[in-house]
Amino acid sequence: MSDPVCTFSALEQIIRERIKARGAITVAEYMDMALGHEQYGYYMNRDPFGEHGDFTTAPEICQIFGELIGAWCAAVWQSLGSRPMMLMELGGGRGTLMTDLLRATRHVHGFHEALTIVMVDASPFLRRFQRAVLHGMHPRIRWQANIEALPDLPLLCIANEFFDALPIRQYAKTLTGLRERLVAIDPHTNELTFVMHDMGIKLVKGGGHSTETVHDSQIIESCPAMRHIATHLAHHMQRHGGAGLFIDYGYRGESRGNTLQAIKTHGFWPVLKSPGDADITAHVAFDDLAHTFEEAGLASTSITTQGAFLQSIGGVMRLGHLLAETHKEEQKKQLRTGFERLVSPQYMGELFKVLGVCSNGQFHLPGFADS
Ligand code: SAH
Repeated sequence: MSDPVCTFSALEQIIRERIKARGAITVAEYMDMALGHEQYGYYMNRDPFGEHGDFTTAPEICQIFGELIGAWCAAVWQSLGSRPMMLMELGGGRGTLMTDLLRATRHVHGFHEALTIVMVDASPFLRRFQRAVLHGMHPRIRWQANIEALPDLPLLCIANEFFDALPIRQYAKTLTGLRERLVAIDPHTNELTFVMHDMGIKLVKGGGHSTETVHDSQIIESCPAMRHIATHLAHHMQRHGGAGLFIDYGYRGESRGNTLQAIKTHGFWPVLKSPGDADITAHVAFDDLAHTFEEAGLASTSITTQGAFLQSIGGVMRLGHLLAETHKEEQKKQLRTGFERLVSPQYMGELFKVLGVCSNGQFHLPGFADS
């Protein structure tokens, strides 16, 4: 008789072994392995983007996205004194944003000459992809897997759909104390399953929910990796000066409950099903991100929407220029529908939020009403 365990993928086997050896694992540990396991992790050995992949991101939808971010970076670089500067992109994917950014800014006097470009990506596959795409576009581009060991330069940091890929932990306040949502193996079905683990922390009376029925809306999330990265970036900017622009699928204000989700071939997928084969994300808590930067000494803008941000930094004008430059009807249509997807509230315009940060609070960051 064949061993039933053999029906699991190599990564699921590894996850199961870990649970059997050490007990249930945190959601963060599960995400970390599913996305970042060095051999079988989702991002490690594939191109997940586009029509034939699992999901499509803003720079892949329309060139205007990267071009406008390029204009934003050039303007901020000038405000910061047109000094030599590091331009860092976190989680550059296929390198499309950086390609569009560099192409759009090549005539900004002195900008490219002042830059050292740092592409940070945990995926060796995507780093290779980016290297091929960006080849010859700039004389100083370096790649690294994390944000450690940055050059001693002012930092201009951009990231699109980066923070939503970082591992989160999930908790719930119940009548019998604080619990953490963990991943375990169901003893009856032998499937991976979520359990609410008693953390041994009793809370004062009042509030909380009965232990049996923790609903999705009662889950509270935390993203330690996001805080670690934001704090590290903030300390660098405090020391050397700098600014950042962060765009992600996320929310303002209070906790939204359980936001963990998996996506495969452009549709939802069960989070615990065949780990490593689907993208797993959690919505970014933008207030938490902004507070983390502020606590570490940076000034942050108000949190705005992608639609409002792109419109306010000249989206419609850029679209107009591109439409005037092309005579091909098909291309015009693609530009119009692409831009529409980026800014319209039915698509990405409101789901995606934007936050700017800066080492100098006096400073105006383009695209934000208040700064
Ligand atoms: N910014 C790109 C890609 C977004 S997908 C775009 O908009 O198209 C997330 C990217 O972040 C991928 O390139 C992935 O390899 C990278 N990534 C995910 N987790 C990471 C981590 N912990 N450290 C560095 N890069 C990471």
